[in-house]
Amino acid sequence: MLVDKDMKCLICNSGEFVCIHKGTRDVPHINVMKCQNCGMVQLDCRKYNTEENYTGGGMLKNTYAAVMDITSDMSWELWVQETERDDDRRYSALKELCSGKKILEFGCGNGGFLKRIKSVAASVTGIELMHEAREKIRNEGIKVFKDLSETDEKFDVVCMFMVIEHLNSPCTILEKIYNALNPGGTLVCETANADDALIVKYNCAAFEDFTYWSEHVFLYTSETLARLLTENGFQTKQNTQIQRYSLANHLYWLSEGKPGGHMKWVEFNETNMNKVYESELVKLGNADTLWYVGMKDLS
Ligand SMILES: [Zn+2]
Repeated sequence: MLVDKDMKCLICNSGEFVCIHKGTRDVPHINVMKCQNCGMVQLDCRKYNTEENYTGGGMLKNTYAAVMDITSDMSWELWVQETERDDDRRYSALKELCSGKKILEFGCGNGGFLKRIKSVAASVTGIELMHEAREKIRNEGIKVFKDLSETDEKFDVVCMFMVIEHLNSPCTILEKIYNALNPGGTLVCETANADDALIVKYNCAAFEDFTYWSEHVFLYTSETLARLLTENGFQTKQNTQIQRYSLANHLYWLSEGKPGGHMKWVEFNETNMNKVYESELVKLGNADTLWYVGMKDLS
């Protein structure tokens, strides 16, 4: 057991960790640590996760190697295409909740979700660090700020999709979001699952080498995410999981050690089979994505 005297667990403040993976895909000397007390997974170094990396679009470039320069319309279009499936899924899941409400998306990326939810919401606002993305979204008629402090508006629903794992100080941000919500308002938080089946069931080394990244500084499970959010004032309304990637994606990882199997092995993309596979993974707590909905007190 490795006892790191400097690092404390985000959730339980314990100093006792084990190293579950040496190195991230971009920085070899960062270790992925798991709290021995509560199971929280966090990196032992957060200094590579800088604001500049987001404002300049470096994070995006690391995510989508093909999207190198979003000032070009071509790359912007490619990025918009890449997120379509997730934007559609989130829209379907949230259109009822967001109907007639004031919506804020914290970390709105290319604005794909806001553009969709705008059709049913009372108003939509985005927060986005990346300069170029803010400009593009603004040109499409959506209100967007770099920082939450730039608006005094209160919101009914705040969404964070694949953002919380990037935050060096999640509690500070959650407090600001809580204060920006109207009483009875809702927070929707989506993030990757630290207990993904490829890691904890299949022990897929290639996937572990690929998925751990200097910018995902905290990695949550359904349990640790709910604990963080309830400790920051939210009442849990829904705490479930989603499987974004298909069985073919998993089989390909296990056979070839590479991503993209959901597009390459389309012969395994039978809808019902994937639905059953997803529901089994969710039951086990090993789906790839966490979906948490919390409420701010009415008082
Ligand atoms: Zn802990």
